[in-house]
Amino acid sequence: MSAKVIDGKAIAETLRARIAIEAAKLIKDHGVTPGLTVVIVGDDPASQVYVRSKVKQTAEAGLNSTEHKLPADTSEADLLALIAKLNADPSVHGILVQLPLPKQIDAERVIQAIDPAKDVDGFHPINVGRLNAGLDSLVPCTPQGCVLLAKTIHPDLTGMNAVVLGRSNIVGKPVAALLIQESATVTIAHSKTRDLKQVCRAADLLVVAVGRPEMVKGDWIKPGATVIDVGINRVPGAEGKTRLVGDVDYAEAAEVAGAITPVPGGVGPMTIACLLANTLKAAALAAGHEPPK
Ligand code: NDP
Repeated sequence: MSAKVIDGKAIAETLRARIAIEAAKLIKDHGVTPGLTVVIVGDDPASQVYVRSKVKQTAEAGLNSTEHKLPADTSEADLLALIAKLNADPSVHGILVQLPLPKQIDAERVIQAIDPAKDVDGFHPINVGRLNAGLDSLVPCTPQGCVLLAKTIHPDLTGMNAVVLGRSNIVGKPVAALLIQESATVTIAHSKTRDLKQVCRAADLLVVAVGRPEMVKGDWIKPGATVIDVGINRVPGAEGKTRLVGDVDYAEAAEVAGAITPVPGGVGPMTIACLLANTLKAAALAAGHEPPK
């Protein structure tokens, strides 16, 4: 069997095009241009690349995009002062502070300083709580992307056995919360789970976010299952170069699964598209309008 490849790049492109149409409507009908502000502290090269694509795709969708680049030795007090200013600025609808932050800054304190209504990463405890209580909230972007991709294969996830491998606050836990909302039967597995392979083999839908290159092998997968691979790992490649791989052994898994996301080109592109969707939603709500579905 050869799995259907879930083309995250194309699906994200379609989503961004829809966001552009909705953003144009908000601008035309209500005079509100959704505005996303990205704050980056220091010069982590991976973050720089990621922030550049965020800024570019935000502008392409017709949203306002601003960027604050702060030096690596920025104090926590200075960063908190900037956040207070952005919280008070009505032209800013979404604030994203790029993680990781330098060690002199407490990331948790920074996340909690962001106005929950502008928290487009969905990491503020208010949004985390609302998501888990089944209330409307700004939902973390990568988890949102995972569920959207799964729904391209299974529009209705009701009753499916879903296994989420990984329990981080930014991926595993919110993916599980979203799948519960979709009425899937959800198991969360992690480094202390017994018989991990057997647990994964029971999944109709397997979402993997462990940060371990190609850890999930073909015989961990139920034949015909849908596999969403969140992992992004850089490993040594041919001729001294590096290459990106997921947390799933793609070559093996594609022989067994019914559908699978590739790395790159799977979950990754969905993350920024969902960030734009969150910014649009935050802008619509701030202006007192129903957010687009
Ligand atoms: P974390 O390191 O925060 O969490 C990893 C989770 O995997 C933990 O819950 C850990 O368990 C579990 N785990 C680690 N090793 C094992 C193991 N050997 N067996 C079973 N469980 C294990 O990672 P993140 O959630 O932040 O990220 C996961 C992956 O997703 C990374 O590759 C990251 O690069 C990628 N990522 C991709 C994004 C995208 O846009 N596509 C966005 C965010 C992340 P325990 O809790 O017990 O320690």
